[in-house]
Amino acid sequence: MIVIFIVLLTIGGFGCGTFFYFDSMEKNKLLEEEVSLLNRTLIHTKELLFRLQTNNVDLTDMLEGERNTNQDLSKNLQVEQEKNTMFQSQIQNISGVVGTLQKLSQTDEELLKKYSKVYFLSENYIPSKLSRIDGQYLLNSSAELYFHGDVLPFLSVMISEAKSSNVDLKIVSAYRSFDDQISVKTGYKTLYGSGANQFSADQGYSEHQLGTTIDFTNPTLKKLVTDFENKPEYKWLTENAYRYGFVLSYPKGNSYYQYEPWHWRFVGISLAKKLRDEKKNFYDLTQREIDAYLISVFDR
Ligand SMILES: [Zn+2]
Repeated sequence: MIVIFIVLLTIGGFGCGTFFYFDSMEKNKLLEEEVSLLNRTLIHTKELLFRLQTNNVDLTDMLEGERNTNQDLSKNLQVEQEKNTMFQSQIQNISGVVGTLQKLSQTDEELLKKYSKVYFLSENYIPSKLSRIDGQYLLNSSAELYFHGDVLPFLSVMISEAKSSNVDLKIVSAYRSFDDQISVKTGYKTLYGSGANQFSADQGYSEHQLGTTIDFTNPTLKKLVTDFENKPEYKWLTENAYRYGFVLSYPKGNSYYQYEPWHWRFVGISLAKKLRDEKKNFYDLTQREIDAYLISVFDR
């Protein structure tokens, strides 16, 4: 019995062992297949990763390329913008020059010419605009006196503001035509002979023909005399006339005419200020220096 039992046990154990042996062999095989599959998957994943990395490099290159293109475009844009700005300023400069030339072409260049013995006006010269001066500003309020239309406002304001400081400027003469000047000169010559040349310009050489020059007196003197220099009206003019663009043409010691404290010429505010600042007279400047102020002659 015992032997039989042992034999059976041996056979059973062998059978079981054989079974477990084959069973684990099967499992090993399955595991190996699984490992092999995992290996293949890994290889595949690696390949995929590699491809992705390659793509990434390509994309980075492309991005870099785009960035460079973008930078180039930005530079081009900047260059174009700079060109535009340059053109714009050129256009502005050109239109500024055109504006200046237009303004100059519309401004009578005779207005700031030095007369007396250097330049003279044609007998046909008449100011572009002549306006009648209001009687309240005249010594003889019923006289018919004319002045350059663009300068009359400067004159009227000057006289009104002087009046508000109790300074009573009265106009004796203003615009004189070529023919008027002939009569004036003839009259003086009859009275003073050739001495008249010292204080009365020949026709065509007179600043009065410009329509921008005025002779003042006051209500007590009632005439054009050197004594005007001692009157408050003359003092006021020497201190204030430049503010309205008027200057004394023939001051004491000038080499053109005798001293005429009553004779004031409009040269524009900016030139009048320059002359005052530099303590110079109109006729001391060269015509070239004076011409630079023509453009601003009516500026306020
Ligand atoms: Zn005069």
